[in-house]
Amino acid sequence: MKDKMKFATKVIHAGIEPDPSTGAIMTPIFQTSTYVQEEPGVHKGYEYARTQNPTRKVLETNLAALEGGYDAVCFGSGLAAMDAVLKLLSPGDEIIATNDLYGGSYRLIVRIYQKFGIKAHFINMEDTELLQKTINTNTKLIWIETPTNPMLKIIDIEEVCAVAKKHNILTCVDNTFASPYLQQPIALGADLVLHSATKYLGGHSDVVLGAIICSTKELAEQIHFIQNASGAINGPFDCFLVLRGIKTLHVRVKQACKNAKKIAKFLKDHPKVSKVYYPGFKDHPGHETAKKQMKYFGGMVAFDLVDDNFESAKKVLSGTKLFSLAESLGGVESLIGHPASMTHASIPKEERLKVGLTDSLVRLSVGIEDVDDLIEDLKEALDKV
Ligand SMILES: *Cc1c(COP(=O)(O)O)cnc(C)c1O
Repeated sequence: MKDKMKFATKVIHAGIEPDPSTGAIMTPIFQTSTYVQEEPGVHKGYEYARTQNPTRKVLETNLAALEGGYDAVCFGSGLAAMDAVLKLLSPGDEIIATNDLYGGSYRLIVRIYQKFGIKAHFINMEDTELLQKTINTNTKLIWIETPTNPMLKIIDIEEVCAVAKKHNILTCVDNTFASPYLQQPIALGADLVLHSATKYLGGHSDVVLGAIICSTKELAEQIHFIQNASGAINGPFDCFLVLRGIKTLHVRVKQACKNAKKIAKFLKDHPKVSKVYYPGFKDHPGHETAKKQMKYFGGMVAFDLVDDNFESAKKVLSGTKLFSLAESLGGVESLIGHPASMTHASIPKEERLKVGLTDSLVRLSVGIEDVDDLIEDLKEALDKV
C-alpha cells in the first residue's frame, strides 16, 4: 500500500510509523547527541547525531517519497543544502544557472565558489539553444529554478534535463517555489532537487531548513558524505516542525494557488499597475510549459507600477495591513516584498535590470487568508500611490 500512495496520503504517511517504543503517533524529537553501543561497532544504526538522527531520517524518507527520489538529505538551511551540492564540483568545473536566481543562491556561487575556481554562467534558460551554446567540456552542473524568483519565468525542466543528459551534466532543480505538490522534477529528468523547507514545506514561517532530494543511490551517498563531513545539519526539533507542516502541504498550496489567481486578475485590471508576472495568464510566455509541468500556477505573484520608481513601490509596501512586509515566502500568511532592496539586493543593479527586476517591482507571497480581504488590502495600498 505504502508504495502506491497518492500525494495527499504520502504527505501524512510516507516514512512515518508510530514510535516502536511507545506507540506515539507523532515522530518523537530525538534530542540526543549520541547513541549507546552494546559493544564496539554493535549499535542500532545510529552512532553520532551529526551522522544520523531518527527524527531527521523520518523527514528525509518523507521528502524522498514526495519528490519521487531515492533518498533525501536535510541541512540547516536551503543555502546549506545548495552548498553541499556545489561541493560535488572541483576547481575548473563550470555551472550554468538561471539568470534570475534567488539572491542567496547567486551570492553563494559568485562570492564563495568562484574564488575556489568554479566558473558560473547565468543565462536565460527559457532559451535551450543558448543553453546548448553555453555548454562546454567543463560544464558539470546545470542549476534550474522554476518558477524563477522574482520574475516568475517558467523553465521547461524536461527540455533542459534532456540537453544536460546528452552531455552527461548533472541537473539540480530548486523546487522551493513550486513545492512537490505542484511539480516533481525527478520524474522530468532532474538528478537532484533542492528545497528551502523554510518556505512551503514548513509552511508556517517558524523554521529554517533545507533539503536535497537525490534521484540515485550514488548521489545520495555522495550528499550524505558531504553532510557528515561538512556538518551543516539541522536540529531534530526543526525536522519535527517541517514534518508537521508537510501534513497540510497539499491543502495549503492549493488554497494559496487559488488566492494568487484571483489576486493576479485583480492586479492586471488595476490602473496603477503596469505589468503582472503570473504564469497562470494565457499570455505569459511560460504558460504552456507551466501547464505541462505544474499542477497549478503557484502562490507567487509579482507586479510593476506605472509610476516606476522606488518611492511609489514604498507606498504600496508600507501601505498594506494584511500583507506583511518581510523576506521569505510560502507561509500561511501573505507577505509583500521588494526584491531590489530585499531578497535580490546582493545582485548588481545592471544584472537585475537585464531581467526586468526594476526598483518598482513588488513581489507577493499569497497566503491562505480570505482572498477578498487580501484584495481589499492591496486596493487600499495601491490607492496611496
Ligand atoms: C529561501 C530560498 C532559498 C534559500 O533557503 P534558506 O532556507 O533561506 O537558506 C533558496 N532558493 C529559493 C528559491 C528560496 O526562496
